[in-house]
Amino acid sequence: MVIVGGVAAGASAAARARRLSESARITVVERGPDVSFANCGLPYHIGGEIADRARLAVQTPGSLANLLNLEVLVRTEAVRIDRDRKVVVVRDLGAGGAESELPYDKLVLAPGASPLRPPLPGIDDSRVLTLRNLQDMDRIKAAAQVARRVLVIGAGFIGLEMAEQLRHLGKEVAVIEAADQVLPPLDPEMAAPVAEALRAAGVELVLGDAIAGFTPEGDQLAALLKSGKKLSADLVVLAIGVKPESGLAAAAGLELGGRGAIKVDDFMRTSDPDIYAAGDAVESFDRLGKTPMNLPLGGPANRQGRLIADHIFRPAEAKPYAGHLGTAIVRVFDIAAGMTGWSEKRLAQAGRAYRATIVTDYQHASYFPGATPLTLKLLWSPEDGRVLGAQASGADGVDKRIDVIATALVGGLGIDDLAQLELAYAPPFGSARDVVNTVAFAAQNARDGLVRPVAALPADRAVLDVRPAAVAQLSPVPGAVNIPFSELRARLGELDRGRPWVTVCALGKTSYFAARVLAQAGFDVASLAGGVKARPSAPVSVQPPPPPPAGVPAPEPATLDCTGMSCPVPLLQVKARCETLAPGQELAVSASDPGFARDIEAFARSNGFEMLGVERIKGQVKARLRRPADQIAVASPLPGEARRKGATLVVFSGEMDKVMASLVIANGAVAMGGKVTMFFTFWGINALRREQPVEVKGKSILDRMFGWMLPRGLGALPLSKMNFGGAGRRMMKHQMASKQLPNLPGLLAAAKMAGVRFVVCNMSMDAMGIRAEELIDGVEFGGVADYLGAAETTGANLFI
Ligand SMILES: Cc1cc2nc3c(=O)[nH]c(=O)nc-3n(C[C@H](O)[C@H](O)[C@H](O)COP(=O)(O)OP(=O)(O)OC[C@H]3O[C@@H](n4cnc5c(N)ncnc54)[C@H](O)[C@@H]3O)c2cc1C
Repeated sequence: MVIVGGVAAGASAAARARRLSESARITVVERGPDVSFANCGLPYHIGGEIADRARLAVQTPGSLANLLNLEVLVRTEAVRIDRDRKVVVVRDLGAGGAESELPYDKLVLAPGASPLRPPLPGIDDSRVLTLRNLQDMDRIKAAAQVARRVLVIGAGFIGLEMAEQLRHLGKEVAVIEAADQVLPPLDPEMAAPVAEALRAAGVELVLGDAIAGFTPEGDQLAALLKSGKKLSADLVVLAIGVKPESGLAAAAGLELGGRGAIKVDDFMRTSDPDIYAAGDAVESFDRLGKTPMNLPLGGPANRQGRLIADHIFRPAEAKPYAGHLGTAIVRVFDIAAGMTGWSEKRLAQAGRAYRATIVTDYQHASYFPGATPLTLKLLWSPEDGRVLGAQASGADGVDKRIDVIATALVGGLGIDDLAQLELAYAPPFGSARDVVNTVAFAAQNARDGLVRPVAALPADRAVLDVRPAAVAQLSPVPGAVNIPFSELRARLGELDRGRPWVTVCALGKTSYFAARVLAQAGFDVASLAGGVKARPSAPVSVQPPPPPPAGVPAPEPATLDCTGMSCPVPLLQVKARCETLAPGQELAVSASDPGFARDIEAFARSNGFEMLGVERIKGQVKARLRRPADQIAVASPLPGEARRKGATLVVFSGEMDKVMASLVIANGAVAMGGKVTMFFTFWGINALRREQPVEVKGKSILDRMFGWMLPRGLGALPLSKMNFGGAGRRMMKHQMASKQLPNLPGLLAAAKMAGVRFVVCNMSMDAMGIRAEELIDGVEFGGVADYLGAAETTGANLFI
């Protein structure tokens, strides 16, 4: 038995062959100096995560030869196959290229695939490197040591692993990808969190643009893109895919498939029954579609190598290759993304009937420390419910769900089977209702017509946001009516039954509950699948404050676990805990809400706490803050005129632009560490009215008339100039949204969150006939003494 290629498929074939036959003469021919090395680990040695290079050599040529009693010829290339004489001609690359012949009864071709290097101008520059073996790895590692900026071309699995590892080395990294998303085999919405994680880690992403060539520019190399854009770097890592190494097979007249890979049958036999082939070089078939498929991955290569030995040495028992599923996974910083089976993109392209169900839940019990969100998308057949594929992303537990569904695909299971799967559960590992069960329940609900899931907000439906008011105000869904789910049944009367509705929430679960309430009340309702997800925020740069004075013993640090809680609960918990911190005491908080990194920093700033650090570890935000040693009481007034901070604002105007100006100032003042009181009087009170009418008993006719005539809430305030019966206001809102400027509800929610006091003038309320229940939650009621008291302690005092 002669095996060409001594790594994944070749070494597997050799090892299994020896276990089945002690008497067989087995020769492994390998072009490189190494055999059986861990190519999948190469990026991690470059980044230093696998520190010891020797760990990548799973076997040395000597140890492999000894262990399996093989003849291992390294630095030897198979250059020709004489099929008639059944000999392989090999060239000794180490000894002047001498050629010799190796006779075979059975020949195994496991030559793998080589990285694509298209014939672009400048591609041969020595700074454009690819990664396939240990020598490539050494070259990239050495070049990366002196490089400041690196371009990674290709946002596939290897490209992203390289980007991650190069960032770990502190390099400036830009990734260029021709497709308009990272990880092109995934569906775009499942790849989006990976792109966010890359950006959050400081990787520059250039999507939808392809490389056109390279040209030296000063000390650097400039990459020219199809769009005309130019990016310079000290090093380029080309990771745009691989092509099967099928030249030897082609020259021997073996049949090749569409992508130039070697055609094989179910037992990995080529068109010559004495020549087998396995791994990246072969065209096998897709398990679900039964169509030809070349899949350059480690798992198939290993299994195929083993199967070949089985078929040679125990043909009666050998089981045919069952085809590829395309199961793959990658870690990119603190997020993993995986897939198995068919994607939605692929199903749509093939014109196959499918349905997609997407859910987000925690990877284990939400109350157990370390809970992080996991999104799972399931593709299934509307005809019989059979699973067609799945994709998942999240910080933890992605591998387990993808593997469960890969197993389901092999078993031909359907959504009813997944709903019944009994998976291992205890709080550190999963939930009593695993996310795999949940996605199947959601699919069953959709199939059975209990819910109409939609992937995006339809333009022809009114939007009902059922998230808590504080959350909805922080990240409003444009044009949505917000009724928190807890109030929905009582407030159904506020919704127009004549209109079709779509419900939305953070993750797609509460919106489903709400859709069920509405559907049973006779509404035409759909639910937004997957919800309005929070995106990870950019990393927060924190300037560490000076250490506490020497000699003063610092109080024991406090800890707070907010994992598994959604915004704004973590922040509210932090606020409550901070009120009991002793001066100089530290608080270490863990949270899984992706927006928490940004929120905690704003919170610390606005409340005078010292931020000691914010980092992301495995999908969790770990933040440390400290109450200053000289901060005696959190809400103590600042002593001395010179240290006065904050502001008191009288909001007299009820005009959109003026209310907005006052909220901007309030947020700014609170961010500067001051206390802020906004005193709403006369027309200003309209800004705080609830947008939906509230039934108030016992109002006089005049009070009622005022109620009808006055604008109700932030959304109804007119512009002070060019209002044109509301058209100007709408134009201004549109203008601000398109320029991504903050909107009024967002500013109000931020001010509330930061601790701004909203005081409404009692006397003005009486005058205008407005009752407390008509105003939004969280306002206080006061008089002129309240205003004057607040004004005395603050540095700025404005009348708007
Ligand atoms: C950086 C990197 C990361 C990867 N990460 C993953 C991962 O995380 N998960 C995953 O599933 N897959 C991963 N892969 C892919 C996986 O390594 C391959 O699918 C697998 O190694 C293919 O096995 P193979 O035996 O077909 O080819 P290889 O393992 O490439 O071995 C082929 C060998 O044949 C030799 N050869 C070729 N032609 C000749 C000849 N004429 N004469 C003598 N010798 C010859 C080559 O020198 C080579 O050493 C990764 C690949 C790389 C490069």
